[in-house]
Amino acid sequence: MPTTYQRCDESVTTLASELLCKYDTHKPLLDARVKIDFVWAICDLDEDNHPINDALKKNGVKCLAITRKLGLKDRALGRGDAEIALDYYWWTQTASEEQQRALLDHELHHIAVVMMKHSDTAQREEDGRPKLRLRKHDVEFGWFSIIAHRHGEHSQERIQAKEIVERAGQFYFPEFAK
Ligand SMILES: [Zn+2]
Repeated sequence: MPTTYQRCDESVTTLASELLCKYDTHKPLLDARVKIDFVWAICDLDEDNHPINDALKKNGVKCLAITRKLGLKDRALGRGDAEIALDYYWWTQTASEEQQRALLDHELHHIAVVMMKHSDTAQREEDGRPKLRLRKHDVEFGWFSIIAHRHGEHSQERIQAKEIVERAGQFYFPEFAK
């Protein structure tokens, strides 16, 4: 069976509101009253209740959440301005509360409001809704394990991994940085 979907319950929307209010970087979303829909993506489980497929995939790779902008037609039909889809199994069976918070904060951070020039007023779409863009990761890697094995320290995979440890060590691996 393909992935099925279900509207997230209040625990998710409450957590999202809390994060939006807590961190200043999300303030433009509140100011522009961006409406976000939250949906669980649900995979199939085997008899032992283990996932047998990936609920969410991006470029063919399993991921835990996908954030996207919604279009004029979706909004005309009552949808939000953006949608965050979350892996239901991960969210409910695997993740700690702290991990849930971190992932949801990450996904919210993908949503950015496009502002008018020299102003802190949001640009608007034809239907009056705030204009959004998806913020890209400021750190992003695409790695193939097999290439790292084949080319070792000459592969970008290994070079970037080394960079993470050396340059951002204190940030990503504070336990190693003395
Ligand atoms: Zn992301």
